[in-house]
Amino acid sequence: MNKRKTKIVATIGPVTSSKENLVKLIKSGVNVCRLNFSHSTHEEHIEVIRNIREADKELGTHTAILGDLQGPKIRIGDVKDDNIELVPGAEIIITTKSVIGTADKVSITYQGLPQDVKKGEQILLDDGKLMFEVISTNLKDEVKLKVIHGGYLSSKKGVNLPNTKISQPSLTEKDKKDLQVILDQNLDWIGLSFVRSARDIIELKHIISQNNKQTKVVAKIEKPEAVIELENIVKESDAVMVARGDLGVEIPMQDVPLIQKKIITTCLNYAKPVIVATQMMESMTENAAPTRAEVNDVANAVMDGADAVMLSGETSVGKYPFTTVEAMCKIIKKIESDYEEMYSKEREPAKDIERFITDSICFTSCRLASRVEATGIITMTHSGYTAYKISSQRPKAAVFVFSGNKKLLTQLSLVWGVKTFFYNKTVSTDHTIADIKYLLKKQGYVSEGDMIINTASIPIEESGKTNMMKMSVVE
Ligand code: ATP
Ligand code: MG
Ligand code: MG
Repeated sequence: MNKRKTKIVATIGPVTSSKENLVKLIKSGVNVCRLNFSHSTHEEHIEVIRNIREADKELGTHTAILGDLQGPKIRIGDVKDDNIELVPGAEIIITTKSVIGTADKVSITYQGLPQDVKKGEQILLDDGKLMFEVISTNLKDEVKLKVIHGGYLSSKKGVNLPNTKISQPSLTEKDKKDLQVILDQNLDWIGLSFVRSARDIIELKHIISQNNKQTKVVAKIEKPEAVIELENIVKESDAVMVARGDLGVEIPMQDVPLIQKKIITTCLNYAKPVIVATQMMESMTENAAPTRAEVNDVANAVMDGADAVMLSGETSVGKYPFTTVEAMCKIIKKIESDYEEMYSKEREPAKDIERFITDSICFTSCRLASRVEATGIITMTHSGYTAYKISSQRPKAAVFVFSGNKKLLTQLSLVWGVKTFFYNKTVSTDHTIADIKYLLKKQGYVSEGDMIINTASIPIEESGKTNMMKMSVVE
């Protein structure tokens, strides 16, 4: 029985997009597949979505799918053979015209670049791995640069201009088209890049509800403005991502570790799932084993209280996608089994809040579960509210969620400690509790003598708010 609580998000790319490889990836431990709409065509993404759903059917799993919108990110165009080498001291031209990139000239997606930059400013590429300095601009379509930190560059890498003010909307024309695909395909989560304020989230949610979709929003925190506005953004979002790649370029890199902790704490307070992303196992893109520092990074994210840890290049273009996921699982399981401090983070609900009854039941069920060392807390939910709430208290007991809302089954795969089951019978609360207990035992999730706690709403046929809790022993 897989008892891992911290979830794994894997970015899907050429090395993992076939159905066969997705089956392997999910078996290795992936809970959420991320499709980065900065890369690949719509047709390719739709094919991957179909493959994930088929893999799920084959395995009986509920893998969540996250469609990630690139937002106002500036990128270079395609480069020759998807790989060019840039040496320090060399000069290179960035052009707004579309060309296949070489070591002398590469194209850029942002037309305003020649007007925006000034001599002496820095331009960073690929999450800051390469650095250029502006020598001159013709203020029209070309900027001449000097390579300061060189290296290898592949197609469509991101560009950051830490000294330059850029004015682009948070949903670009490309994002709007990508969003339509994400909504049409009924994906579980949408990632919004470069969120600057809570308004960005509200506007995106407005479009989602206009389309009558249940897709939920992950706010990617990667701008200094978002760090300042953090609390408001967390309140409006359904989940948050610590997008360390761009964040570490947009703000001083040494600020990222404490910001990661602050984002996680804020998310736990508001019961919003949080993903720690970028370069977690980066060296495994090329190597079969992680560096010791990477092992520590994943372990610390788990200890900080992340709901999920994410893989990017490691699983999309890496040489060892499955080994990487397996290594991540080992690190997570070790920490979860030996680090007691990560559990029992109950926060007493305030009296004046709207959901006082439900919140109190969630709080108390976690307290009780820890007192009696329960194996599981079982919740029945249509909205998912109690699942998020119970998970955010970080109980040691498993959180078993039973729901007739199919979208919720996959959506909740992102959430710490949650395991979902389809259930749509509504005979009576007594009957349901007994029935669910039987199902869990039959499937091996609980065994004789285990203590379990049920939360539910009575009377069941009204499917109102959670207002009761029951403790019992598995017979
Ligand atoms: P973001 O800022 O959204 O993280 P990114 O460019 O850093 O964008 P990641 O999703 O972090 O992209 O993935 C890391 C790298 O893996 C990418 O830069 C790209 O080279 C490669 N990659 C990711 N997804 C794909 C894909 N669908 N097809 C091809 N390459 C991909
Ligand atoms: Mg990235
Ligand atoms: Mg980013």
